[in-house]
Amino acid sequence: MNLKFIHKLERYGRSLLQFFLPQYCEICGKEDSSAEITSLCKDCLKENLEKYPNDDPEYCKICRTFLSGEKDCKYCESRNVFFETAYFLLRRKEIEKNLMNQLKLNNKKHCSVYFAMGLGPILLKIRALKPLGIVPVPSHKSSWTKRPYFATNCLLLRLARKLQIPILPILEKVSDQHQSTQNRKDRFFHAKEAFQLKKNARIINKPTLVLIDDVFTTGASSNEIARLLLQNGAGSVVVISTTRKTEGIEI
Ligand SMILES: [Zn+2]
Ligand SMILES: [Zn+2]
Repeated sequence: MNLKFIHKLERYGRSLLQFFLPQYCEICGKEDSSAEITSLCKDCLKENLEKYPNDDPEYCKICRTFLSGEKDCKYCESRNVFFETAYFLLRRKEIEKNLMNQLKLNNKKHCSVYFAMGLGPILLKIRALKPLGIVPVPSHKSSWTKRPYFATNCLLLRLARKLQIPILPILEKVSDQHQSTQNRKDRFFHAKEAFQLKKNARIINKPTLVLIDDVFTTGASSNEIARLLLQNGAGSVVVISTTRKTEGIEI
């Protein structure tokens, strides 16, 4: 797949759309140059965009869970964590939940730009890990053909361009059941069964892979996919998720 071409096409498509249809802020409805690009006007962006505190020493260095003043991380202690480390772009609040729904359900693709914001501060850290490629978490059975638009599309393309590494769509979802409808225990068992490596995909020479997910709630999917990638030949897996919910989560 020619990334440069897709990126050009995407930019061209977006500017064409903006020419005919001015974009309004998804929160307050104001027409504004920032809303054309990020889906939120400058004021709403300023008020709502909250980058995730990945570097805060009060958060676990592996899973980035808030440590609540404790030395040990409850998340990492309570399970086998298969990813090397995880980074999050934004803290998931009500706004992020709504924008993600607009994107997924109403196909408002320009909202994807919002979910790539916050990539800057972690880019150097990811580059230092010398990853071989970027693996998107499929949201649907055979995503690339049936529903080619990922909520994380903008993030995927930006990351691939900045790091000059390929997107590797090597995973497929084998079950269509939705994670969000299940309780914690079910999510865990479902995640284990839900994904597999595509038939012709091979991972050789133990590379570091970047796994991109759109939401990290209990992290069951990301963790199980990391396990799957390791079992199939990856050397290490770094998770990047666009948002992480931090309140009201049962660890
Ligand atoms: Zn606004
Ligand atoms: Zn942890």
